[in-house]
Amino acid sequence: MSGAPETPKSHGRIAVRPTLRPRELMTDRPDLAGAWRAKIITLFPEAFPGVLGESLTGKALDEGKWQLETVPLRDFGEGRHRNVDDTPAGGGAGMVLRPDVMGRAIDFAMEGTPETRADWPLVYLSPRGKRFDQATARRWSRARGITMICGRFEGLDDRVLFHYGIEEVSLGDFVLTGGEIAAQAMIDATVRLLPGVLGNAESLEEESHASGLLEHPQFTRPAEWRGLPIPEVLMSGHHGRIAEWRRKMAEKITRERRPDLWAAHEARKDRDTP
Ligand code: SAH
Repeated sequence: MSGAPETPKSHGRIAVRPTLRPRELMTDRPDLAGAWRAKIITLFPEAFPGVLGESLTGKALDEGKWQLETVPLRDFGEGRHRNVDDTPAGGGAGMVLRPDVMGRAIDFAMEGTPETRADWPLVYLSPRGKRFDQATARRWSRARGITMICGRFEGLDDRVLFHYGIEEVSLGDFVLTGGEIAAQAMIDATVRLLPGVLGNAESLEEESHASGLLEHPQFTRPAEWRGLPIPEVLMSGHHGRIAEWRRKMAEKITRERRPDLWAAHEARKDRDTP
């Protein structure tokens, strides 16, 4: 394969070490029992797994419950210097990632993935995208994997987005210097929804955004700290009263802090009660 990258870099203990395999076999990347897989096109592969290598996501990565593969954009660059960017057409500040270079990286990353985008989304992290939320994490967690493109500089040549019909997703209404932090945040939110990643599946059902409400406040020992006691009901051992208190608090906090979420919650309730 001409212009083939050196080696896609897999993370996690079970990942195959490139040195153990002949180079030509590397295109036949192992798929661990179909575990959910994130492929990240980036100029900074060493930024991964980053924080995803810690705690629950890191343990799940080690156990092969999900897989991570970086596709180093530099490997697909032009010429001896492996150039990946050029000046913006029409002038102006900064540099733009070249479509030919990015196209080669995308073709490589998408090789062998399911045709249907619902099964394998192709995403560009972008401040112009639709804002990432829990529903998107849930949708992605039901796919078999995802390919994410991390931009740098002024971003991608727009023709790439058009040509591949790429989904643009934003971490929020602010501008980062690159897509890597956004990718890690979104992968974290997605991976924790995969079966077996969180020990306690119940915590998924109650937490913020799962039901369209923000979560109730949490407390733990000591029972009194700096003159502040834990709300008495939580110490009562009365499960019915505790559940009721938590529901009321979740509603109060959502109403006060996020009128937008509250309005959507009320609308859903109206719809569901005939
Ligand atoms: N000139 C662009 C910003 C480029 S920032 C614009 O004004 O729209 C450089 C890269 O950082 C982007 O290509 C994108 O991949 C990433 N990035 C920046 N902000 C982001 C955000 N809020 N969400 C996701 N990715 C972001």
